[in-house]
Amino acid sequence: MQVLVVEDEQRMAELLDRTLQEEGHQVVVSNDGRAGFEIARSSPFDMIILDVTLPGMDGLTVARKLREYKNQTPILMLTARDSSADIVQGLDSGADDYLTKPFSLDVLLARMRAVSRRGAVPRSACLELGEVRLDPASHSVTRAGEVVNLTPREYKLLELLLRNRGRAVSRDAILQSVWGFDHEVSENNLEVFVRQLRLKVDTGEHKLIHTIRGFGYIMREP
Ligand code: CA
Repeated sequence: MQVLVVEDEQRMAELLDRTLQEEGHQVVVSNDGRAGFEIARSSPFDMIILDVTLPGMDGLTVARKLREYKNQTPILMLTARDSSADIVQGLDSGADDYLTKPFSLDVLLARMRAVSRRGAVPRSACLELGEVRLDPASHSVTRAGEVVNLTPREYKLLELLLRNRGRAVSRDAILQSVWGFDHEVSENNLEVFVRQLRLKVDTGEHKLIHTIRGFGYIMREP
């Protein structure tokens, strides 16, 4: 594979460069976000390994801008912070997967194989699970073909859960992503809110939205 590594920590960049070359990949290394973005735009890569904290332009912005420019190259994001809000932000920005530093090289290579197997995901594609279908292009939701009217926040929550389908999303990540930092929302409010969403979209025989006690929620196939 042709791999672009955008990482400003010299030792990490060298380690990734050497390891990936030993695995038979062709590697280009950039140590600046803006430069990395330009390189990613100007030549085709099979995979981008992108650090979050970078000089020039941070990794979240690089990922978001690449997707804005219709660049669909799979992105594996490296984050030093193991906070689920950061991870959600990373995935929302257009990254396909993430690794929290420090990570083992074996895990990195395994994640790269998994992401590359999935291939480039069309970003505007509908998000679907069971009978629920969310179309980001038209901002609409249907269940079993019937239009479901959601408030903007319900839509945002459903989109967040669908984009992370099969993965648990913490209450903190939901509160931050749906309400932001400015709003005071209690966890009780969140439960009421999720109940409303369930009544609108999760009315089938097999439930899709599941509570993970003490953590948050997950949306997955029955
Ligand atoms: Ca860095």
